[in-house]
Amino acid sequence: LFITIEGPDGAGKSSIVKRLSKKIQETTATPLVVTREPGGGEIAEKIRALLLDPIHTEMDDRTEALLYAAARRQHIIDKIIPALKRGDIVLCDRFVDSSIAYQGQARGIGIEEVKAINEFAIEGQKPDVTIYLDIEAEVGLNRIKDKNSNRTQDRLELEEVAFHEKVRQGYLTLIEEEPNRFVCVDASQTEDEVFQDVWNVLEKRV
Ligand code: C5P
Repeated sequence: LFITIEGPDGAGKSSIVKRLSKKIQETTATPLVVTREPGGGEIAEKIRALLLDPIHTEMDDRTEALLYAAARRQHIIDKIIPALKRGDIVLCDRFVDSSIAYQGQARGIGIEEVKAINEFAIEGQKPDVTIYLDIEAEVGLNRIKDKNSNRTQDRLELEEVAFHEKVRQGYLTLIEEEPNRFVCVDASQTEDEVFQDVWNVLEKRV
């Protein structure tokens, strides 16, 4: 079973991943592999470091999209496919849908273009189920800002809100295209409520 978790910045993915891994391990004896993108393996982590390096702001959008796809390729080869072959459950924080939403829609490369390079990278290895934590851009960004309260309120923030609203629109387009793969959860609820909604769907599958 291959599960991915998606959502715009500030949707609360990391806390849900933590709670979910604990719950899955309490519920089933099937081994669980928890992993995240970009990264998950020595080579993919090196590509991650490049994507997180300050020089990244000078990077061309298509170079960025190719690096995400390259990291993803190495990640599925090194970690995800071997785990699925063993029959393990794989829980992955972000996957192809992130690239389509961030690079394809929000950076403006195009959904079909980003899908194409990712198809080359993953060769059809799709998640069985994708949990999408839905949050409005402004609400999500304010959550992050509350955590790092030294972030200043300036013009950049308007751009950030617009960017993250596009990210969200990208995800919502994908959900319309593949309603059966996605489970859409309202992430503006409390963490307990969000987790309960996620678990109501996943409990039957693990
Ligand atoms: O998953 P997490 O929220 O930690 O992602 C780290 C950052 O990488 C986020 O700020 C997100 O905006 C960015 N990202 C991106 N394109 C992706 C995946 C993540 O710009 N495909």
